[in-house]
Amino acid sequence: MRFTQFDFHPDILSGIGDAGYINPTPIQQQTIPPILKDKDVLGLAQTGTGKTAAFVLPILQRMVNRSSAKPNALPKVLIMAPTRELAEQIHENIEMMAIHTSIRSLAIYGGVGKNPQKRTLRKGVDIIVACPGRLLDLMNEKVLTLKDIEVLVLDEADQMLDMGFLPDIKRIIRYVSKKRQTLVFSATMPKEILHLTQNILNHPVKVQINHTLPPPLTTHSRFNIEKNKRTALLKKLFAANGMTSTLVFTRTKHKAKSLAMQLKKSGLSAVSLQGNLSQNQRRKAMNGFRKGSFKIMVATDIAARGIDVSGVSHVINYDLPDTVETYIHRTGRTGRATQSGQAYTFAASEDGKMIAMIEKALGKKMTDQSFPPV
Ligand code: AMP
Repeated sequence: MRFTQFDFHPDILSGIGDAGYINPTPIQQQTIPPILKDKDVLGLAQTGTGKTAAFVLPILQRMVNRSSAKPNALPKVLIMAPTRELAEQIHENIEMMAIHTSIRSLAIYGGVGKNPQKRTLRKGVDIIVACPGRLLDLMNEKVLTLKDIEVLVLDEADQMLDMGFLPDIKRIIRYVSKKRQTLVFSATMPKEILHLTQNILNHPVKVQINHTLPPPLTTHSRFNIEKNKRTALLKKLFAANGMTSTLVFTRTKHKAKSLAMQLKKSGLSAVSLQGNLSQNQRRKAMNGFRKGSFKIMVATDIAARGIDVSGVSHVINYDLPDTVETYIHRTGRTGRATQSGQAYTFAASEDGKMIAMIEKALGKKMTDQSFPPV
């Protein structure tokens, strides 16, 4: 199947062509038609399978002949994402696809000045991609109202509906008309969260594509190593060949920072991405890693979800994730879009239970590695 088979406006097809997409991915094939028909959709698909374009393209089709160049025009589409980096990435994806249209999108998140966001809102936007905190801030300041929202999207929905975000999301949804179209997307969806989507969605079309599995071309290995020897092992691994672009996950912000510093001191090209950095530093780290000027990014789970950096060769769990879902998201940063990837997990003797749960989700044992990796 080809994109030309959907009835997209020629300006959207040009954007798709510029992006180099020819054939829609399975999630796109199955969700674009019902979204174009105004149906609610629950889309569960592996990370890296083109989820973003699956909702962005039909939204652009909806807006293409209506985008309003008028000042103060209210947004018609609200896309919610859990991290600033993901909101920015979705916004950039929209801009790329909408380049031949006059549709305007704005990313709204904290850690940066409010004024540029307010200015853009005053000029009028069609689509906003937002993290909950700053969105509520701007609503409280009455610079933004959601009364014209027709389409609501929750990306990484299981995290958006998790305890931390749920109160904010509930408040935001109360401001959006019940007549809206709602699209809920995620790579993982634990049962206890799934039932919450029932209150948000209206007779949704469910599309599920191997959603609990990480990308198939990723190999999963485990290094049995005591905690105090992990940094030494990490350095040895980096001294070996083939680690062109590596994402290392730690549990805490502090550890991400100190580990990146230690790696830098030993001459490696490393940067940290964690919540104690200013948004400007976060952007520099993310862009530097994307461009390859940093070969290693040591990050907390703010980098676990949705982030699309092509060519991440290795994901290393320096600290074990708290949940199986987080393992799936973290390791989904490699092996994207049909490339192969390597996921290494450092496990100490007390980590057996979590390893067993991850292996159950993977449907196979992780390969036991000893240095040098084979
Ligand atoms: P996502 O799952 O949305 O993060 O997308 C993963 C990667 O696949 C991104 O780099 C997209 O630009 C790319 N992508 C999405 N849809 C297609 C497509 N139909 N053909 C080729 N690449 C795609």
